[in-house]
Amino acid sequence: MPPGRKNNWFDFSALMGASGLRLLLSRRDDQNGGQPLAQHREILGRELGFSQGDLAVPHQVHGTQVDWADDGRVYPQTDGLLAANPEPVLTLQVADCAPVFLYHAPSRTRGLVHAGWRGLAGGILAAAADHLRHRDIGMGQVAAVIGPVIGPECYQVGPEVAAQFDTRFLTTNPDGSYQLDLPGVVRFRLEEIGVRAENIAAAGICTKCDSRCHSYRRDGQRAGRMVAFFYEQG
Ligand SMILES: [Zn+2]
Repeated sequence: MPPGRKNNWFDFSALMGASGLRLLLSRRDDQNGGQPLAQHREILGRELGFSQGDLAVPHQVHGTQVDWADDGRVYPQTDGLLAANPEPVLTLQVADCAPVFLYHAPSRTRGLVHAGWRGLAGGILAAAADHLRHRDIGMGQVAAVIGPVIGPECYQVGPEVAAQFDTRFLTTNPDGSYQLDLPGVVRFRLEEIGVRAENIAAAGICTKCDSRCHSYRRDGQRAGRMVAFFYEQG
């Protein structure tokens, strides 16, 4: 575990099954909920021993853009970062959407993707796979960890969102709304791009049910964001 406020981190490193990797997600922290996210991210990073210049930060827009992060800086208009070298610490902010950690052990390539309904419907995981294939990285050797995400019982959506997804991921409510199985969609899309089922692990945590998580659906506009950090331990 990182030093400092040990209880304020989820640690999913063991789920990846690769040594020397850290997959962390900050927990809900009411004391820090009021400060700007950039400042909060910097404090969290410092806790792990990183300066701001080490952090690769995507300015997320619920889109499908994925970029290679060569160093620690801000990446505009992107919802996923990939790193082929060990230096940049990949970060991501979430509150109900899934953080998806990707790792190709032979090339030590990391990826961290923001998977909400818009990104998934638009093909953000396919975009990540395209980038990897262009560098001759076969998806059959990529492992994936799905972080905390809003669960099917807690994620009510309207017909316009439901229309974006296969009916197998939807349950119809009496009032005509739907429940969307977002973690199921993430897993399906990962397999669709070539990640083997046995190489996919999930935290199995619903952000709305679990009070350790920030949840937009639970807390609305005042919801904070959890910050994911994905890095190689030096
Ligand atoms: Zn739930």
